[in-house]
Amino acid sequence: MNILFAASEIFPYAKTGGLADVAHALPESLRDEGQKVYTVMPLYNQVDREKYEIIYNGLTFDYWLFGVRHQFDIFENKNNRDELFIYNPVLCDRWGLYNDDFGDFGDNALRFGLFSYAVLEVMIRLKLKIDVVHVNDWQTSLIPLLMKTRYKLKQKTVLTIHNLAYQGIFPKKVMDELEIDWKSCFKFDGLEYFDNVNFLKAGISFSDRITTVSKTYAQEIQTPAFGETLDETLRVNSYKLKGIVNGISTEVFSPSKDKFIDKNFSIDEYGGKLENKINLCKELGLKDDKRALFIFVGRFTSQKGVDLILDAISLFKTYEANFVILGSGEDIYNHSFGSLVGVYDNIHIKIGYDEAFSRKLYASADFLLMPSLFEPCGLNQMIAMEYGVLPLVSKTGGLKDTVTDFTDIKDIENSSLGLGITFDEYNLFWFNHALAKAFSLYGNKDKFERISKHNMGVDNSWIHSAKEYLNLYKS
Ligand code: ADP
Repeated sequence: MNILFAASEIFPYAKTGGLADVAHALPESLRDEGQKVYTVMPLYNQVDREKYEIIYNGLTFDYWLFGVRHQFDIFENKNNRDELFIYNPVLCDRWGLYNDDFGDFGDNALRFGLFSYAVLEVMIRLKLKIDVVHVNDWQTSLIPLLMKTRYKLKQKTVLTIHNLAYQGIFPKKVMDELEIDWKSCFKFDGLEYFDNVNFLKAGISFSDRITTVSKTYAQEIQTPAFGETLDETLRVNSYKLKGIVNGISTEVFSPSKDKFIDKNFSIDEYGGKLENKINLCKELGLKDDKRALFIFVGRFTSQKGVDLILDAISLFKTYEANFVILGSGEDIYNHSFGSLVGVYDNIHIKIGYDEAFSRKLYASADFLLMPSLFEPCGLNQMIAMEYGVLPLVSKTGGLKDTVTDFTDIKDIENSSLGLGITFDEYNLFWFNHALAKAFSLYGNKDKFERISKHNMGVDNSWIHSAKEYLNLYKS
């Protein structure tokens, strides 16, 4: 099968979250299965062209929209010519993918509208033989609409929703700017949304298949509580909706090969993990490295349960455990966490996005805190398990599907499930209850280590899910 996979971020070129990881690992797995997969993303300013050997592929074209000429230059990876990049100044010439310190860019509708047109123009002009066009999130959701209406293309389209909370909602004047057909598109079963346009809704309405990133989230988003106002649209389209859990790249996230960590380790050479923890505690000036080490890695937004973590700081400071928090996001949380930097000697906080530091944390930690309010899939918990960490998670979305409470499993060695600590109700009482469970388990060194090693052996790779995608493409 020939697949064109379009995404607004792909690891390692540009990444703000899990979408980039998925957009790297799923195409790779499909290629391993013998499929031809082209990936397409914007060639943003911050993509390191030299490091990744991204070169001009000889194609430049103009596209006129609403009386304005837009120029596109097409690039490719010298080492894998199926990795394509689109350069256009409006789309790429700025720092930040979707926003900066002042908020979302005001021209995002135009930017990702242009990207959507360019993806199709590239497919046509390079004469790529494609069976399925796979798009991801709102940034590429206009592609199925354009294929069905303006271009009248026959290829099948699949939309994956990585997070329903982000929909790309814009004033309806962008219909003209992007030359979208009012009659066939600006309607309830199109992209009309409370007299605005909603890019993600366009994807939901016009694509042939929809997937989301876990089975539980596929159910949840059809309810008003998790549906982010699109639950009715999703219920109407439920016949084409399927949940397929994400995997992680076991090449990228591998404790035995990871170049970012001090000591590589594996189930058989587990001592390296303990050395990493000792080194990290020394480096960060954390008390007593025999204590349990809890980490949080993620975006500072209410989705990730940061309110619960902030509420729990007054408990953390009294516990005989160490905590490291790495993240950045909304101003209010950056300030709240920022004001706690250096205040408690058992809590280390780093505001920012730091891939290398995150790997060091996974390699050293005993527990990962992930008390999300909602979680489409979540990758951190799977990455953490790969490094022998036990995730402490709320039972929602993909967390529910990938982490089982260790007390529910009698025969650890014969289970194939990822193990950690789970809690049902999103509040401080049950979060603290889960923490107490973690302390008690950590007190039983033998059992803790068995579970830690067990998690390192759990299969969170893409192998199974890539096959599910392949079956879906063929259906
Ligand atoms: P999201 O909702 O942000 O996409 P996921 O759990 O799906 O959440 O993926 C998050 C990815 O981003 C993981 O690879 C995680 O390690 C990484 N990540 C998130 N925040 C940071 C940070 N501040 N520094 C480094 N890596 C981060």
